[in-house]
Amino acid sequence: MKKEKVERVLKTFDEMFPDARCELNHSNPLELLIATMLSAQTTDASVNKVTPALFERYHTAYDYAHANQQELESYIRKIGLYRNKAKNIILMCKALEARFDGEVPADFDELVSLPGVGRKTANVEMAEAFHVPALAVDTHCARIARRLGFAFKKDDVDTIERKLKKQIPQDRWIKTHHQMIFFGRYHCKAQLPHCYECPLVDICKETNKKLKDA
Ligand code: SF4
Repeated sequence: MKKEKVERVLKTFDEMFPDARCELNHSNPLELLIATMLSAQTTDASVNKVTPALFERYHTAYDYAHANQQELESYIRKIGLYRNKAKNIILMCKALEARFDGEVPADFDELVSLPGVGRKTANVEMAEAFHVPALAVDTHCARIARRLGFAFKKDDVDTIERKLKKQIPQDRWIKTHHQMIFFGRYHCKAQLPHCYECPLVDICKETNKKLKDA
């Protein structure tokens, strides 16, 4: 995408969502890591409903590493894939205990070496917990990147992450990540996007021609 177009998109994001932020409730790096793992294929709002009781019961990597899986499942039963997520959280915390003294490492490569932690989760952790420039690509970011022309429709998430990082200034990565999520969650939804009132309709690759010409 041309530099002027990128600038216009970022300016529009600033106007529409100046206060975009992480919507997963947490108070330390471990809680954020657990919440992000829980958020796979479910909404942040659903995760925020189960984490207060979960974080009240388990505090440290040691607590999760030695948890009874069925008991842990009972705290997260209301969200999708809870059995798998409980298993991964226990395995991930066992690795934290064995290799990192129970602390969440502030290093991308070490984060992705943990069971159940992929690039998206590691990027969220680097940005939110450690304030290191990172750009996580979730389902909203991927859709918006394709629709606005940062990436091609056929690009996978790793390619989209690389292309976004190339086109967006590094000091904007964290903010833009949140703004793309808000833009996707509240405006450019997967089904029924608000194209009729979209300030970026003229550059969008997916809206219909009638709207572009209006
Ligand atoms: S025109 Fe529609 S599909 Fe395109 S970015 Fe705007 S809301 Fe999304």
